This record gives sequence, structure tokens and C-alpha cells, in this order.
Amino acid sequence: MKNSSFAKVNTINQVMNGNRTLTLIKPKAVKEGNIGPILNKIQEGGFRIIAMKLTRLSFIEAQKFYAVHKERPFYENLCRFMSEGPIVAAILEKDNAVEAYRDFIGSTNPEEADEESIRGLYGTDLQQNAVHGSDSDDNARIEAGFFFAEREIFTA
Ligand code: ATP
Ligand code: MG
Repeated sequence: MKNSSFAKVNTINQVMNGNRTLTLIKPKAVKEGNIGPILNKIQEGGFRIIAMKLTRLSFIEAQKFYAVHKERPFYENLCRFMSEGPIVAAILEKDNAVEAYRDFIGSTNPEEADEESIRGLYGTDLQQNAVHGSDSDDNARIEAGFFFAEREIFTA
């Protein structure tokens, strides 16, 4: 048991090689019918989708996913809205993916985001900002392992 889960972590580590990031299309953007337009933008931006699923977080899973924010005042609300409906999770590939994708989606607050960015186009407020993007290679690796098994990740 210990050995098999250790082997899987190693494989995710090999797959998440610095040119990959994890994104989520958040519940409100899914509910508003924006999966298609957002995926289109992602691909137009030169990000290749190498894993993807429609899924839903329980409140407890959202708490785990956002554990880094547990001391922040918005933590509970964040976990509530992230678990209120289906989301899309995807692993994206591009050179320097983490930084490139964060630049591409725009500022956390859609009002401050570039108008043509995903958050500028599809985010409605600071909390409901359409998409998540990993903030470091280490977190991209952890987040990819949170959502995907090795066989669900399609590298060239
Ligand atoms: P993400 O992690 O979703 O890609 P981010 O890295 O730009 O976003 P974080 O600081 O990690 O921003 O915040 C995580 C999420 O928590 C934000 O995307 C947003 O949904 C929510 N959030 C951040 N700051 C606030 C706030 N002050 N009030 C309410 N919600 C917030
Ligand atoms: Mg973040």
C-alpha cells in the first residue's frame, strides 16, 4: 500500500515537469454555460489540454484543495462556492506553464483583469473569478495528483 502510493506520486512528479499547470473552471462559470468559450480561449492561448474532467468537490475536498488559505477570512466562503456545483479540472501544457497561465487568465479580481483575459471576460467578482491556476510548480504537481490518476494524463 505504502509502496504503491509512493510510486504514483513519483509518476505525477515526472509528468508535472515545470511545463504543466492545473486549472479549474469554477462552478459559476460552468453553470453559466462558459465551459466551451473558456476551453476555446485556453487553446487559442497555446495551452495544450493533457487531462480533463467534469467533476464536483465536496465541501471537505474543497477545504483540502484550498488548505493553503485556511487562515484567510474568505476561506469558508471560498470552499462553499467551490463545492456548490460541477467544475472542470484540466492539466495544461505550455513552456513555463504556471507563470504563463497566471498571466493569461488575468488578475484575481476580474475588475482589475485585462478585458480580454478569461477572468476579464467570464469572472463576475473577486470570488467568482471563473478559473483557478496553480501558483507554483510544486502546487501544480500536488493539485494534478489531487484530481488525476496517472492513466488520465496524456503526454505526447
Ligand atoms: P486561484 O488560486 O483561484 O487561481 P489566485 O491565485 O489568483 O486564484 P488566491 O489568493 O490563491 O488567488 O485566492 C484563491 C481564490 O480565493 C481566488 O481565486 C478567489 O476565488 C478567492 N479570493 C481571493 N481573495 C479573496 C477575497 N479577498 N475575498 C473573497 N474571495 C477571495
Ligand atoms: Mg491561488
